[in-house]
Formats: sequence, C-alpha cells, structure tokens
Amino acid sequence: MTAFWTESDYDAHERVELVHDRKSGLTAIIALHSTHLGPGAGGTRFWHYAEPKDAMRDALRLSRGMSYKNAMAGLPMGGGKAVVLLDKDRTKTAEMLHAFGDAVEALGGNYVTAEDVGASEADMVTIAQRTAHVCGLPAEDGDAGGDPGPFTAMGIYHGIKAAVQHKLGKDSVQGVHVALQGTGSVGGGVARLLAKDGAKLTLADIDPARAEQLAKELGANAVAADAIMGIACDVFSPNALGAILDDEGIARLDCAIVAGGANNQLARAHHGKVLAERGILYAPDYVINAGGIINVSLEYLCRQKGAPCDINEVRRRIAQIPGRLTEIWQESEDTGEPSDVVADRMAQALIGRG
Ligand code: NAD
Repeated sequence: MTAFWTESDYDAHERVELVHDRKSGLTAIIALHSTHLGPGAGGTRFWHYAEPKDAMRDALRLSRGMSYKNAMAGLPMGGGKAVVLLDKDRTKTAEMLHAFGDAVEALGGNYVTAEDVGASEADMVTIAQRTAHVCGLPAEDGDAGGDPGPFTAMGIYHGIKAAVQHKLGKDSVQGVHVALQGTGSVGGGVARLLAKDGAKLTLADIDPARAEQLAKELGANAVAADAIMGIACDVFSPNALGAILDDEGIARLDCAIVAGGANNQLARAHHGKVLAERGILYAPDYVINAGGIINVSLEYLCRQKGAPCDINEVRRRIAQIPGRLTEIWQESEDTGEPSDVVADRMAQALIGRG
C-alpha cells in the first residue's frame, strides 16, 4: 500500500472523512486541513469525477487552500472542504443532502460547510435541516449571509483594481482590458462591477450562450472558451475551474496581470515562478477570492452567538483584500520570490505551520 500520508496533497491534514450512505447513495469526502484558528470552514463541491482519486485530490487541495484563505482573511476559522461525488447525470437529491448534513453534524462543529461549485443556497437550507454547522443560508436585507458569489466577486473587483494600480500605475480600470474566463456567479459579478467602471471586457464560458448573453448586457465581446487565455489584454481573470495555469496555459497568456476567483489556479507549485519569470503579476487565488468566505463565516459566527451580523462589517473586511495583496506583491519584489510563495509563507505562519 502506498503511504497516503506522505503524498504532497495530504499535507498533514488533521482529518479526512470518507462518507458513504447506502440509502441515499451519497458518497462524499470531508477534508479538514487545520483547525488551528477555529473550525475548518469551506464549501461543498458537487461534481462528477472521472476517478475517485480526482475527488480526493480536489478535496485535499481545496481544504488546504481554505486554511490559507481563512487565515489570510483574518478569520477565526480553520480550513476544510467537502466534495460530493455525483454520477454522470449529476443527480443530487434531498436525501443525499440530508445524509451529508448528518455527516457534517457528526463532526461536532469541527467542520462548517457552505456553497461551492454545483451547490445552491437552497441546498444549504436542506443541509441545515440536519446540522447547525452550515452557512451561506438566505440572508435578510442588511445581514451577512446568503450566496457568497457576489461577495467573492466584490473582493476580486477590488483586487483587480489593486493589481492595475500596482502593475500598471493606473488609479482606475477605465479602458483597462480584462479577459474573463467563466461567467457564472463569480465571473459574472466581477464583469458587472468592472463594466460599471468602464473596463473593456472580453468574456468566455464553456456555455457560450451564457457568455454571449452577459456580453450583450454589458456591451462586451464574447469569444470561444478555448480562445480566452490567448487574448491580448491587461488582466486575465480566471473564474471557472482550477489548474489552468500550467506550462501550456501560461505560454499562451498575453497579459500583464492574472487576477481571478477560481480556486487552485496554479497547476503545480512552480507555476507561480513561471508566471513571475514572464513578468506577469499574479494575485494569489486564495487571497483575492476570500470575499465569499468572509461573508458566510461572519454569518455563521454571528448566528452561533445569536447576534445580528451587519453587512457593513463584511464590506469592511472585504475592502482589506487589496491591502493584503499589495503587501504580498511588495514582499515578492523585495525578496525576489514569486507572490504565491510569499502568500503561502504568510499563511503557514498564521496557522502555526511556519
Ligand atoms: P459557477 O458554477 O457559478 O460558474 C462557473 C462558470 O465557469 C460556469 O458558467 C461554467 O460554465 C464556466 N466554466 C467551466 N469551465 C470552463 C472553461 N474551461 N472555460 C470557460 N468557462 C468555464 O461557479 P462560481 O461560483 O462562479 O465559481 C467559479 C470559481 O470560483 C470556482 O473555481 C470556485 O471554486 C471559485 N470560487 C467561488 C466562490 C464563490 O463564492 N462562489 C468563492 C471562492 C472561489
């Protein structure tokens, strides 16, 4: 048997739960990377994986990313993530969601779940019928909570503006060309915010109708999904799935900045260095995309205390993302290390693994 514990993705996870519920057909993995700063918080991804090992790799990499993300966002939360392995038709039933809620509840508050790709606010409501350790539940006006997507988009928008200021010396994104990959909850939100500021947008999605519809709404261009990484632009903003920054992907880029919301954008650890060597400023994904977890973590923490949670506190914390990015880029320039390496070192120190 291979020593799973020595594989790099495992990275000393505190706990990895394999969940199977025969009655509902639920198969899931709950990965808890670190509870050093608080309960492991991170969403649940509902996805069809070609191989179970792909699901495990996703869970472990995403969970570690949540440890780093929550620490760098200044939240009293550790890192965790769950993946639910769906069949080819992506069948998701209320029974499966209830069984998943039971599995979360059995962890006694060590793991707090929320939305991720393939999950909705309504799914969180169904899971919450079985456990209190869930966030991203519908929010009243003026309260934290609800779909994290728009808050993630808000943080990325601020982060792109900071990158444009840092790399291009511009105080505004007016006329700045941003190529967005993925026009879903996050990418669509980022595009709308940038459009309001007069940015020039090129959009792509594997669902071309989605990109075209948004392009029409915003007066932007839409291109085929396989063309977006080669578009000549100022900012490439990945807002679909991860691991797109590999040797081939980076070679195709024709931009000054990579700043977007997708998790685990770097295919391998050395790809941050490859970007830096090409002179491309990279916004570490888990720093720039923390807006959603800031929103739902504050919702969860307030609910645990029985206190209302002011949305302005969420906005105040999201507005700190550009400052953190600038600190990372500054240290990267001072030390000559790629920005992802600097961010990882800062995060590891915060979770007691420095
Ligand atoms: P979503 O499902 O709403 O949107 C993703 C979009 O990307 C879809 O429209 C999909 O068709 C498109 N897509 C998938 N593969 C593509 C490809 N190869 N090329 C072009 N488009 C492609 O998901 P989302 O909530 O917007 O999340 C997007 C990314 O951001 C994910 O990596 C997610 O993990 C990450 N993220 C999301 C949040 C959040 O709050 N929703 C928070 C942090 C990180």
